[in-house]
Amino acid sequence: APAGKKNDISREKSAVLYEKAKQFFPGGVNSPVRAFKSVYGTPLFIERGDGCFLWDADGNQFIDFCCSWGPLILGHNHPKIRERVTKTLEKGLSFGAPTALENELAELILKNNKYLEKIRFVSSGTEAVMSAIRLARGYTGRDKIIKFEGCYHGHSDSLLVKAGSGLVTFGETSSAGVPKAFAAETIVLPLDNRDAVESAFSQFSGQIAAIIIEGIPANNGLLIQEPAYVQFLRDITKQHGALLIFDEVITGFRLGFEGAAAHYGIQPDIITYGKIIGGGMPVGAYGASAELMACISPDGAVYQAGTLSGNPVAMAAGIAQLTELKGSGFYKALNAKASEFVEAIRRYIAAKNYKVKLFHVGSIFWFAFTDQEHIRTASAIDHGSMEHYKVFHRELLNRGIYLGPSGYEVGFISAAHSKIELEKAKRAIFESLDELF
Ligand code: PLP
Repeated sequence: APAGKKNDISREKSAVLYEKAKQFFPGGVNSPVRAFKSVYGTPLFIERGDGCFLWDADGNQFIDFCCSWGPLILGHNHPKIRERVTKTLEKGLSFGAPTALENELAELILKNNKYLEKIRFVSSGTEAVMSAIRLARGYTGRDKIIKFEGCYHGHSDSLLVKAGSGLVTFGETSSAGVPKAFAAETIVLPLDNRDAVESAFSQFSGQIAAIIIEGIPANNGLLIQEPAYVQFLRDITKQHGALLIFDEVITGFRLGFEGAAAHYGIQPDIITYGKIIGGGMPVGAYGASAELMACISPDGAVYQAGTLSGNPVAMAAGIAQLTELKGSGFYKALNAKASEFVEAIRRYIAAKNYKVKLFHVGSIFWFAFTDQEHIRTASAIDHGSMEHYKVFHRELLNRGIYLGPSGYEVGFISAAHSKIELEKAKRAIFESLDELF
């Protein structure tokens, strides 16, 4: 198909809805990145999704590579999830009491994941990470945690901190309303830097409860770490009596059923989950050894609770989704499909000599407008290149492809993306790159 200018998509109905939303919500949205502040245009209000497709209020159809920011590994509106959810909700929506469904989802996870012995369900990734941090502090009796610049772990106080300059910096809060005293317990270090971690441990000897890292950092670009570095984090935490937390809210059940832990073959002390585990419903979880999890209330002294934790409808969606993922060959097929897609785009980029890289792991991908072969740290990202992403994003929308509305966000391929749609998407990507360069 000949490339060339495409008209901007119609946004009439979305624009009306957005104006209305602005009367109700700060910035017109219930989560900031949805506001399209980092790309052109205003938010698209979504009417429905099916398979790999999304339709907005104006009737525009898109092949969706955002997938609700990761949860929809089977695509939208999967019949098996819908059926299980519908059957469950007919019996009532919430009881605030145990149900067999919680056991079923827990068994499905624990029987197929050798990195965990016990689990606790919560309602979001933020809650999972917040609880994991409290567990680490409760278990070790230490207060400080190490997080890495460029890793996002939800919006709880201790984790909304960013690095200043220098190797060991106490976090400066990255949000108004986070007490300096909280941020002072968070040591923010650059990724991929062993010296920084070693000096933090020597400077704060006996005070560090845990290191937390995303399974594969995927919230500030896709910052793929070297396995040896992650093993180093495992070794140094052990050596100093600190815990290692893998935040697998994105990588859990995405890289494989056992997520990043199996990807590296590294046993972390605590793992957090969100997104895929709930099949599109609000679910998070954290898990660890039986010994560690014994610290959690009601048996242990670390308090954590939730009115809607283990919600039956949410559990039903999680069960239906994870049952599909557990099927033999699921990840092999998904990851092979993603690799093929990525390789074809890389060949095109190489042939045209465009200044853009497509980073990729499993079914997660990220376009970076750079010459660098590897980007492993937040500071290696060229913020100016986000101007390219804005154009790229608009050109793709105009060609029926929906990527997250920020160049720092990764894309996801689902099992619902068939060869035909991936072929269409590739062509749209080629044309959009031609338009850009
Ligand atoms: N941790 C990671 C790695 C995430 O990617 C996210 C969300 O994107 C969170 C935690 C927070 O999860 P939630 O948005 O469900 O609170």
